[in-house]
Amino acid sequence: MCGELRAEDAGQNVVLMGWVNRRRDHGGLIFLDLRDRSGITQVVVDEKVGGAHDKADAARSEYVVAVKGHVRRRGAGLENPNMATGEIEVVADELLLLNEAKGLPFSPAEDAIANEEVRLKYRYLDLRRTEMQKNFALRSRVAMAIRNYLVGEGFLEIETPFMTRSTPEGARDYLVPSRVHAGEFYALPQSPQIFKQILMISGFDRYFQIARCFRDEDLRADRQPEFTQIDLEISFPTQEIIFAVVEGFLTAAFAAAGIALGTPFVRMTYDEAIKNYGIDKPDMRLPAMVSLTDELTPELRTTLKIEQGLPVLGFVIPDVGELSGTARKALLSEVRAGFGDCGLDLLDVARLKTNADFAPLAGVIESKLLGSNPTRDGEAVTNGAPGLVVVVTPKLRTPAMWNFDPQWIWKRVGQLRLQLGAKYADKHKRFEQTGTAADFKFAWVTDFPMYEWDEETKVWNAAHHPFTSPHEDDIKAGRLTSDKGAVRALAYDIVLNGTELGSGSIRIHRQDVQAEIFRSLGMTDAEAKERFGFFLDALEYGTPPHGGIALGLDRIVMILAGASSLREVIAFPKTAKAIDLMVDAPTPPTEQQMRELHLRTVTRS
Ligand code: ASP
Repeated sequence: MCGELRAEDAGQNVVLMGWVNRRRDHGGLIFLDLRDRSGITQVVVDEKVGGAHDKADAARSEYVVAVKGHVRRRGAGLENPNMATGEIEVVADELLLLNEAKGLPFSPAEDAIANEEVRLKYRYLDLRRTEMQKNFALRSRVAMAIRNYLVGEGFLEIETPFMTRSTPEGARDYLVPSRVHAGEFYALPQSPQIFKQILMISGFDRYFQIARCFRDEDLRADRQPEFTQIDLEISFPTQEIIFAVVEGFLTAAFAAAGIALGTPFVRMTYDEAIKNYGIDKPDMRLPAMVSLTDELTPELRTTLKIEQGLPVLGFVIPDVGELSGTARKALLSEVRAGFGDCGLDLLDVARLKTNADFAPLAGVIESKLLGSNPTRDGEAVTNGAPGLVVVVTPKLRTPAMWNFDPQWIWKRVGQLRLQLGAKYADKHKRFEQTGTAADFKFAWVTDFPMYEWDEETKVWNAAHHPFTSPHEDDIKAGRLTSDKGAVRALAYDIVLNGTELGSGSIRIHRQDVQAEIFRSLGMTDAEAKERFGFFLDALEYGTPPHGGIALGLDRIVMILAGASSLREVIAFPKTAKAIDLMVDAPTPPTEQQMRELHLRTVTRS
């Protein structure tokens, strides 16, 4: 291979095949940098080797070439320490031009490539780039490490259908019209959810699949209409068994990328995540929020015009350093502008310090907050500069937007924490990759709410999916009907550095409970039967307790590759408008296809 030859190979006869990465013509000598997926070797073609030199003369970038020759150490001072093969070159005896390449829209040899649309249109050229070759080699290794781990833990890999019925994961379905059954459609699976549960009913006990899922959603920057999940399900589980399996395969996956993770991961409940981070996917690379509710006594609140009873929250952005008076004022007004008229305000702690009446309060706040400065793997990574202390208070008067709901305050302050974390990233450097396990802050978030209130449609939806088991206590207490907002689910997410990597749950395994949950989601028994009758039936034939999870493989590989978008780790991705620019899909069907599928286009005004 083109990346493999070293100094000790000098004298060997070799055959290399690959693409011309670059060609340099020095008259009597032509240099071809030959590239394959393993790397690059410099080939020297001397005019004394007549036939070969003529061909090298005709070769251009991305021509496909075979060369026969011998390995020679480069002359002293001519080595290239930046190339793995930089100590040698191959002296050509024979050269074959196996194929030509047209003038290129861009060169795979360049690091900085023009615009992404061009890359996606000529994806085959884009994928030749060293960086992309690395990404897909990594993806393959990671997937294999996960497979090996799970098979070693007794899991069976079982495929489930693509052409199926709707699966309720909260997105729109992609539909496939049936030719044989006029007017009927298959749905592509949003996940293998129902099938994996049925596999548990079938006694398979431990299932996994590296499964493609299809969701027709409004695409955000880092979403794809089809994506890959590491999907698994276990019979007779506890949450802890599922967490250990996931920690095990993630450890194997990260090891495949050279990173030794420590387990177990942090665990926290949804309520704790909201209280401490203001969000259900906490980024723990920065210090948590700290409650100052009790420090702001009723008397202090009266003088400082702070609403009684509601949370006062603080946090620190580490290592920001002393801000100048002007910088501090600019920051205060920027944050206040961001709050608008939502009823929150900043407490200017630096100013409190200058006032004898409030200095003690400022002291307490600072000692409470600065004591929370976190460390990376036990070692403080602080540059010694003071952290930025931020304290948010609810102003006196009734803020219409959040109606005295503490949750709203936690979440809004959590947002500000992330915003300022991003703003001062250069200072605190907590988001920089060091290439060690310290870069990866994992957490399990448990006990999610079972239901979500949809303000627009005024209905309760399943926060995870409707097969998720509520807490036994909440069922017993009758909350499914009396107090849906308070029902906790046996649902959990795995979070990494503020992104959700996957979610799962312990499932409902009793038919009566499942039917009740469908009802609680506003489905009539007839509707439930029509959509999920087969599943409700199956539940009645001896269903074991079971639970599982699914994690996004694309995102895991993206993080391990240090890539900025899922498109860097999906070989043939779609654009943000769900278009495949290379094959040009979607396209209108032909008239004949429409006829065969019993379809007609009607243009709606
Ligand atoms: N099917 C779920 C999802 O795609 C995962 C699970 O509950 O196992 O999010």
